Amino acid sequence: MKKTRLSVVTPCYNEEDSLPMIFYRFDLLERLMNDSAYDIEFVIVDDGSRDKTPTMLALKYGNKQNVKIITHPTNKGFGAALKTGLRAASGEVVVTIDADTNYDHEEIPEILEHLSEGVDVVTASPFHPEGKWNYPVHRFIPSRTVVALYKFVLRGKADFMHTMTSGFRVYRKYVLADIMPEANDFLATAELLVRALLKGYQVKEYPTVLYERKFGVSKLKTFKTTMSHLRFMWKIYRGKIR
Ligand code: UDP
Ligand code: MG
Repeated sequence: MKKTRLSVVTPCYNEEDSLPMIFYRFDLLERLMNDSAYDIEFVIVDDGSRDKTPTMLALKYGNKQNVKIITHPTNKGFGAALKTGLRAASGEVVVTIDADTNYDHEEIPEILEHLSEGVDVVTASPFHPEGKWNYPVHRFIPSRTVVALYKFVLRGKADFMHTMTSGFRVYRKYVLADIMPEANDFLATAELLVRALLKGYQVKEYPTVLYERKFGVSKLKTFKTTMSHLRFMWKIYRGKIR
């Protein structure tokens, strides 16, 4: 049986503290996927890290055939790193996931099962009634508010959504060229989803648990990102995003 090529895309910025755990999870995932219908490739984007991230990636994966490491010479932002990874992915199916413990990599086979026929994007959703948010409250309030506002400006196209900003998703590769975001910052995840919804692609939520980062620190700047969301929503509201 011919296997479907799967790319797992992970942006990585100063993640030396998380990498040992990520390496462990990637190894485990590769073993889990051995007997699956997928042929797995890892695409890791080092977004201009200044810590031991590049050295650790080179040592672990320098000679590994199914791992692509792409380096930004300087830090360009989460969205920019994500786009680099999405463009480099050769799989027909593309999973995106953080280089930390926010999401459980062992759920990748499960989220893939939700990519049924006719579905183009599956997005992990901790705000889904069957999901769980194990994360600080200073992130809960802006994230929930952002969902409510997106629903309002999208005029019915996002009524079934509970989460707009998840970094854990599955995309069919052919959709990506059509929904590639402009944002180089943390807006990128919402932008991908908004463009998919506006273009009529089939988006499905996958209820999940969001965990706190166990190693290293979050790079998200809450205020700056909220402002990016508000500016983008204003554009959607005025019909500037098609
Ligand atoms: N990241 C990146 N470039 C940046 C900021 C973050 O590549 O400028 C990566 C980071 O290493 C992580 C992912 O993007 O794998 C999401 O960032 P983070 O986990 O810090 O954000 P949060 O999950 O807290 O929103
Ligand atoms: Mg994270």
